[in-house]
Amino acid sequence: MPETTFAPLPRRLPVLAGNWKMNKGPAETRRFFEAFLAACPDRADRSVWFFPPAVSLEAAVAATGVRADTAIGVQNVHWESGGAFTGETSAAMALEAGARIVLVGHSERRHIFGESDAQVARKVTAALSTGLHVLVCVGETLEERRAGQLEAVLQRQVDAAIRVVPQAARGQFNLAYEPVWAIGTGVNAAPEDAAAAHRFLRKCLADAAGADFARSTPVLYGGSVNPDNARALLDAGDVDGLLVGGASLKADSFARIVQAAEQGSGN
Ligand code: PEP
Repeated sequence: MPETTFAPLPRRLPVLAGNWKMNKGPAETRRFFEAFLAACPDRADRSVWFFPPAVSLEAAVAATGVRADTAIGVQNVHWESGGAFTGETSAAMALEAGARIVLVGHSERRHIFGESDAQVARKVTAALSTGLHVLVCVGETLEERRAGQLEAVLQRQVDAAIRVVPQAARGQFNLAYEPVWAIGTGVNAAPEDAAAAHRFLRKCLADAAGADFARSTPVLYGGSVNPDNARALLDAGDVDGLLVGGASLKADSFARIVQAAEQGSGN
């Protein structure tokens, strides 16, 4: 495993994470951080993670270099360490370029690119063994929710990912509840529905790996978060942070989401 000089990422400090999807090359990334870092000075009471496209990883790492409250990640890695996999990036390459965390199993990977639970598990294994943290995304489609399959789907997706997490790497595991019907639709889960799903996920974590693991694992909510609903979702109960797509693309709207988390910190 390569040596990393990074401090460990916080456990259960509010996390505001921006998934930029296929948006922002290096120049736009630099412009974003000029505005965002000025709007949100460094603080120790919350953490901000960014998932730029892989080509903008180094620009994001350079822009946020001196900030202790930010971490940069990648949106995907391949499970193999190298070889004839055109278009793919390995976990070790991402780490070398400055990534500390990787999104695994985002619904767009599962539903557009056909990523299976087994592939998600292989990516989790590759990322953890390299020293990266993972933010594993789980969530049900509208059809599954309407068919009463919410818990079965979450259980299946979480179990597949947790099964491959060795005891020594449990501190690198993070979870995001992202109902597929809420992603990019402008329709967020009601805070009480998010809280119920998070409670259930916490139970899945406890059943799979014990109460301490369940208590210490950050579980983020994602799906149409914006500056106006961020505080209510953070207050929903059992929600440790927010994974934000569209509203993380503009420095001012993402700054307002980060500031909504700060308002709840008592500072
Ligand atoms: C996401 O991409 O993970 C996401 C939650 O997107 P949005 O905030 O745009 O719904």
